[in-house]
Amino acid sequence: MWIRQGAQIDLILSSALEVYLDNWKNARGEAAGAVLVENNDAQSILSQLVDRLPALEATAPWQHRKLKIDKDKLPHLRFVDVLNWGGDYVNSPMTIIAQSLPNDHWVIDHVGSVNVVYRNTGKAVYGLSGEMIAKEFLPKDVFDQYGGVLFEATQIHSALHELGHTTGAMAPEHVGKEARELLEAEYSTLEEARAELFGMWAMPQMAREGVFPMKLAEAGHYGMVISMVGGLRFIPEQAHVKARNLMWHYFTKNGGVEEVIEDGKKKFRLRIARIDELVAELLGLIGNTKASGDKAGAVKLRETYCFTDPMREDVEKRMESFPLGRGLIFPKLKRDGERYTAELEYPKSFADQPRYKARLLD
Ligand SMILES: [Zn+2]
Repeated sequence: MWIRQGAQIDLILSSALEVYLDNWKNARGEAAGAVLVENNDAQSILSQLVDRLPALEATAPWQHRKLKIDKDKLPHLRFVDVLNWGGDYVNSPMTIIAQSLPNDHWVIDHVGSVNVVYRNTGKAVYGLSGEMIAKEFLPKDVFDQYGGVLFEATQIHSALHELGHTTGAMAPEHVGKEARELLEAEYSTLEEARAELFGMWAMPQMAREGVFPMKLAEAGHYGMVISMVGGLRFIPEQAHVKARNLMWHYFTKNGGVEEVIEDGKKKFRLRIARIDELVAELLGLIGNTKASGDKAGAVKLRETYCFTDPMREDVEKRMESFPLGRGLIFPKLKRDGERYTAELEYPKSFADQPRYKARLLD
């Protein structure tokens, strides 16, 4: 339940956030609660992205376009700061960075959906380990150039990813059918890759229209390099990991990435112009595969480009000393007698948070 009110505060209460079986917790969902506050600066960039969505759909590199974009049916996309999280949200060591609620297509079509990108918690996570991965796999001059805007760029990419999920239409012969039914087990990987690629495809166009500088769009591409390379340390099984693995191999096999040896380590530089071509090419291919419900095509694409990478052990070793996850520490409002003040008070350690303390009930 997403509770909208006059104030810029969002409340989310849920008994089960996901409708598919989670590969990690092996559960369909847990009780969860969040108190969120809209981030105004980020929200203004977001509304510019949403305004441009029809123009993006009209020029997208796929065949079957969504001709009518009903603004009421667009996701309620929101950049928010987290005031507090409880239940399913606090699953250390993992931290949720962005979310579309719910996943159920019937609910989305009939009731609508909310897409949230969590800013302050995302920034905390990035501050701890994001830069380490960037420094490990990007050449020094690339890090110097883009490091400062990498977090901002990945946030915008996340928002475009969520919008990307709403784009495209089924081929005329499949109107009324769900791509998920036609593509079965291939669906999630294909759809996640489509959303990631949509974000990469849209960013330089938004920059050309002056929504943000081109440097930010390029930083968004490097943000994806970090996710893709970091993901190579896993055997591709989960949908997002498979999607990024597939994209990485498509880009590297087709000349989008230049390998550089620096301090005895393999690092990666993008051929930006070539990457933009490859993104459009693969986005078109995947968009058309989805629209036509071409399961055999999806299998072929996955078998060609999604595989355990020969660099897997090397990437794993290079990331060995990095934090495996993060535990967020939430502050409390300071109390002055009977009243709460506007000051925040942080617990001394992770385990000192009230949520982790046993409570005595009488
Ligand atoms: Zn997604």
